Amino acid sequence: MQQGRHWRTTRIEVDAAAITSNVARLRAVAGVEVCAVVKADGYGHGAVTAARAALAGGAAWLAVALVEEGEALRDAGIDAPILLLSEPPVAAAEAAVAARLTPMVYRPEVVDVLDRLGRDRGAPVAVHLKVDTGMRRVGATVAQWPALVARAAAADGVIVEGVATHLARADEPDEAGRAATVDQLDVFDTAVAEARRVGLAPRLLHTANTAGTLLHPRARHTLVRPGIGVYGLSPSWEVPAADHGLRPALRLVTEVAFVKHVPASTPVSYGHRWRAPSDGWLATIPVGYADGLPRAVSSRVEVLHAGRRRPLVGTVTMDQSMVWCAGEAPRVGDEVVLLGDQGGERIRVEEWAAAADTITYEVVTQLTARLPRLGAPGPR
Ligand SMILES: *Cc1c(COP(=O)(O)O)cnc(C)c1O
Repeated sequence: MQQGRHWRTTRIEVDAAAITSNVARLRAVAGVEVCAVVKADGYGHGAVTAARAALAGGAAWLAVALVEEGEALRDAGIDAPILLLSEPPVAAAEAAVAARLTPMVYRPEVVDVLDRLGRDRGAPVAVHLKVDTGMRRVGATVAQWPALVARAAAADGVIVEGVATHLARADEPDEAGRAATVDQLDVFDTAVAEARRVGLAPRLLHTANTAGTLLHPRARHTLVRPGIGVYGLSPSWEVPAADHGLRPALRLVTEVAFVKHVPASTPVSYGHRWRAPSDGWLATIPVGYADGLPRAVSSRVEVLHAGRRRPLVGTVTMDQSMVWCAGEAPRVGDEVVLLGDQGGERIRVEEWAAAADTITYEVVTQLTARLPRLGAPGPR
């Protein structure tokens, strides 16, 4: 939880119990151990909160993108195994090992660096080797793989605990998406066979993100790596999180800061791009694009006020936005929910993603550090 004072009324509330239940659900669906991905500050939810909640839900592993993210979890006293999803920068290799992070490795040069470190400290460094089976981001190509596994097999200072890859189209349940995923899993099987042929004995095989975990039994292997589903959010339009028993954990809440009554046709905010459709009430809320409310959703999403959906109107500004309350007078201090539930209604992250022409991942990771992250209050 955020330390220190915060005066502002705008805040993120994270329901840790939802994260715990989502991880338990993903684990039950997968039937194998779960590595909960908490990179990018737990997809905007707060990495330490997310990590603790995921472990409570039965996650055996956590995963981060950066050495710094792994160190922050260790500093918070988290002891679980932590996978580093990419190679550390060579200058950070020692720090990564000191923080007991398990790096994914895909270059022989990095095997050598870790091998030296392992031999110097007299205890081999556990790594997971990553093969590129079709994502074309990081991972040894099929052509580079034999040299990588041979190098790892010869390195006494390194122990290959896992072999992994990442799926590019697991979130597309149609024919083309399925075919691409099957192709990747076939390439993965061949790569694992090659690793075993040179004497490696990886205990953990993992390929599945959230969509892979939910839709592709063959991708589950011995460990799955869900991220977005841990937070109850949909990996794609075709894979709605709610259909899989996952529930959102995040609320973005504020309070009405100013109210006024305006005549019909009153133009509102920068550019006067929106006009009041009738006489009525406007509420100003202290949240804007510097908090991660995308300017692209201007006049395209709704908020909850008094348990009802009301349109967010006019151009979103840096720190503030306007809500159209029509005939019902709002009051300064009224709760306004931008994401999450109020009085049985719910605004979903998916709505913002659609309105801003992006994905749930981008919406939540753009919620800025200016927003305090708080635990969820008791039942509302
Ligand atoms: C981010 C990430 C994941 C999690 O993906 P989701 O789609 O959020 O479930 C898994 N593996 C790797 C390598 C990643 O980068």
